[in-house]
Amino acid sequence: MAEVAAPPAAGSNGVTCSYCGRGVHPTRHSRQGYQVDYYLWHTGRIQPASVQGGSDEAPSKQFFLLVEPVDIITCVDCLARPEVLEDVERKYRGG
Ligand SMILES: [Zn+2]
Repeated sequence: MAEVAAPPAAGSNGVTCSYCGRGVHPTRHSRQGYQVDYYLWHTGRIQPASVQGGSDEAPSKQFFLLVEPVDIITCVDCLARPEVLEDVERKYRGG
């Protein structure tokens, strides 16, 4: 028999905070300005890589390859917590 899972507590765009699970909303614009509700961090495990230049004398180009992409979503409330900001920064650096 199939299990029925409760739908996530999603915001208007179906996106939820990776830390508290609350549904988040896209940025709202008004005449007075705008209100950001969440941030999306596209990060993950990286590794150094290089490609050879166009000719034998051309230096190779160094870059970082994103080998395991991870999207982290933080609502503005969670990002205001120092421990969440620290965790996001650590993951963003590839730690
Ligand atoms: Zn949150």
